[in-house]
Formats: sequence, C-alpha cells, structure tokens
Amino acid sequence: MTGRRARIISVGDELLCGRTVDTNAHDTQKRLLSRGVPVDGVNVVLDTSAAIAAALDATPEGSLVIITGGLGPTPDDLTVDAFADWSGLGLKRSPSVTMHLKTLAADRGFPYGPHMDKQTRVPDDFTAVINPAGTAPGLVGEARGRVLVLLPGVPSEVEALWPGIEADLEARSVFGPPVFSVLRRTSGLSEPALTGLTEPVRALWPDLTWSWWLTRWGVDVQASAAPGATIPEGLAQALDEVLGTRVYADQFVELNQVVQDLLKARGSTIAVAESCTGGLLGAALTDLPGSSAVFCGGVLAYQNEIKERLLGVPGATLAVQGAVSSETAEAMAEGARRLVGADYALAVTGIAGPDGGTDTKPVGTTWLALAGPRGVWSHCERFRSHRARNRRLTVARALDALRRHLQTDRDPWIGDGS
Ligand code: AMP
Ligand code: MG
Repeated sequence: MTGRRARIISVGDELLCGRTVDTNAHDTQKRLLSRGVPVDGVNVVLDTSAAIAAALDATPEGSLVIITGGLGPTPDDLTVDAFADWSGLGLKRSPSVTMHLKTLAADRGFPYGPHMDKQTRVPDDFTAVINPAGTAPGLVGEARGRVLVLLPGVPSEVEALWPGIEADLEARSVFGPPVFSVLRRTSGLSEPALTGLTEPVRALWPDLTWSWWLTRWGVDVQASAAPGATIPEGLAQALDEVLGTRVYADQFVELNQVVQDLLKARGSTIAVAESCTGGLLGAALTDLPGSSAVFCGGVLAYQNEIKERLLGVPGATLAVQGAVSSETAEAMAEGARRLVGADYALAVTGIAGPDGGTDTKPVGTTWLALAGPRGVWSHCERFRSHRARNRRLTVARALDALRRHLQTDRDPWIGDGS
C-alpha cells in the first residue's frame, strides 16, 4: 500500500458563481477511491494565477494533486502558466500534441492558430496524454514533492483522458491496492429506512466502511473493505436478505436501463398515461438508446377532460373519486394500455404542488397504477417535498413498480401499505 492521499483543485470562475456544478471533483473522488487513494480535500478556485498558486501551496508534500480546468485556448485559461510559475518548471512544445492538434484542425476545417499552439505546451519532464475528446492534453508529472495531474475542465474530456492518466499513475506506483466493495442500488426506501434495515448487517462486519447516497431513483448503499482486503463471504447475501426486492441493481446500472432490459427479455411493451409528471415518465423510459423496442407511446392527460376523452376515465369517477384517486389512476392505465396497444401501461396522477392540496389530499398525494396482462394495481404515495422533487419521485416509484412487477408477476406494491 502506498498510503498516498489526494487533493483536488477545481479551477474555474464559473464554479464559484453558481453557474457550473463541480462534477469533476465528484467523479475524480470516485475514481481515486476505487484505486486505493483517498481524497483529503477539494479546493475550488478562481481562474487567477494567485488563486491557483495558493491552492497548490496548500497541498501537502507527497500528495497526488489533480487539477481540472483552465487548460483551454482562451485568455482566461491560466492553469498551465500558473503551474509553471509555482513549480519553476519550463514549458516546451510537445511534438505529439502539436501533431494531434494540427490533424484535428485539418479534419474539422478550422485554422491552426496561436490559441491551439498554447495547448501544446508541456512542463519539463511531464507526460502529455493526448485528449481523445478534445484539444488540451492531460499532463502528468512530479514537482515539489507532489505527483500532479493537470486536466481540462470539460467533463467528457476528463472522462476520455482518464484511462491514459490512470495508466501513467499506475506506472508511477501512485495507486494503492484495489478497494473491493459491495453495492446495492435501492428504490422506494428513505435513507433512514435503508440505514435501519442494514443495521444488523453492519453490526456483523464493523470493520467495513459504509456509505449511502441519494440518487435519481432512490438510495445507494455501499460497503467497502480496507484497501487490499477482501469482501467478507456472506455479506452480499446478508444485504440481499434485508433489502429484498428493494434492490434494482448491484452495479452502477440505472433503473430505467433495468426496466428496459426486463421488458426486452420478455418481448413486452410499455405505454404511459401521465398527469402530474407532464411527460417525465415517458422521458425516463426513452432516455436510453434502444427504448423504441419497448416504449410505444402514451397520453399526457393533464386536464380531466383529456383523461375522460382520450383515456376513457368515466366522468362519474372524476367527479366522485376525483382526478387523484385509485379509480382514476387505474382507469388511466387501462385506457392507455387499450389505446396504445401495449402489454403494460403505467399511469400517474397526483398533486405536485405547491397549490391544489386539500386536507384529505395534501400536496404530494400521488396515485400510481400499473395495468398489464395479469391485472391492474394501484398505490398511493404521499411525497412530502416540493413540486420538482415530487415529480421526480413519482417517476422513480412508477418505474420501480414496473420493475418489481416484471420480476415477480405480482402486485408490485404488495406489502407497501399505502
Ligand atoms: P475549461 O477547462 O476552463 O476550459 O473548462 C471548460 C468548461 O468545462 C467550463 O466552461 C465548464 O462548463 C466545464 N467545467 C470546468 N470545470 C468543471 C468542473 N470542475 N466540473 C464540471 N464542469 C466543469
Ligand atoms: Mg475555464
């Protein structure tokens, strides 16, 4: 084990005025941790030489320092010059980067000018990793007792550069032994519920490091062994026993992908009838390539008249039980299934807020229904959040209900209460 620890410096004015979220630091943390290098801190700084130098000064000797941002062609991109000043290293033009940029310019039909030339400069004894997704190369080397990696800011370029950077860091023996972990992605559980359920498992293996985080679909839980140690036998099974059908994946696969795969495996199709989500459910089902094989279409039935006229929800149901009711949700699902001719249909109707709530149906009250060859089921959720989150949660719960039904052929909400 090398014992090396990392610092991340995110450079960019846009990161400090609420315009851009620093996703590079977030992604880098995951990558480094999986290679046995814990991150001790992230410093987000402006595009100024003084700020960059101060951030570099603050990194301990012996650390791995990852800097992203400010390697580009514009005058506000100062990171390489600031780094050269701080390290005392000279800058030389790299023939391989120059060739890459000249080829790129010729292929894309833009002139090779000084703004491109600026990006060919490499600090003395640093390695330039060619950027497969852009212009500025990644730069790796050593200075003032640190191992340093300079990366551009565009997240897709960071991602494309990472394999090359990783190979270089491996050669420098920067990485520790691999960290093994067990992941369970869950939907329909709150963080406290998930921590409660996993408590007996955590008590069995207190030496593991546990983490939880919210996702688009629910909450993920991960147990990691110490660097180089293996995952105890029985852990995965113990987790599955306590989490049951709440788990939709044991790897970083998205819930909408899991649903698409299940529908494909059955050769089944899906339709939607959406009220409060206004198309978000259809969007989640069509986010991924390959969705046309399983997603037929749907109805955006926002107003009662559309629920009645297009989906055949009886006027009496809307008048008596109301638009947000079990009866309406089920009639919407059956109507969409019939109209579209799909094997399954999901329907959602709720009060997203901030207005429209009543004593009996407060904001967040949402009925979900699933219709399929084996019947129709519905379920009431009472989300206690704001409009945007209530709508996101509705999409996650609806997709997860379909997932559970496809895996069990039963009422997807069995045992959920209402
Ligand atoms: P730059 O490397 O400064 O040319 O960055 C180019 C673009 O990448 C910026 O305008 C941002 O949109 C984006 N970007 C820069 N830094 C980050 C970061 N830390 N996280 C996410 N996006 C970033
Ligand atoms: Mg910038």
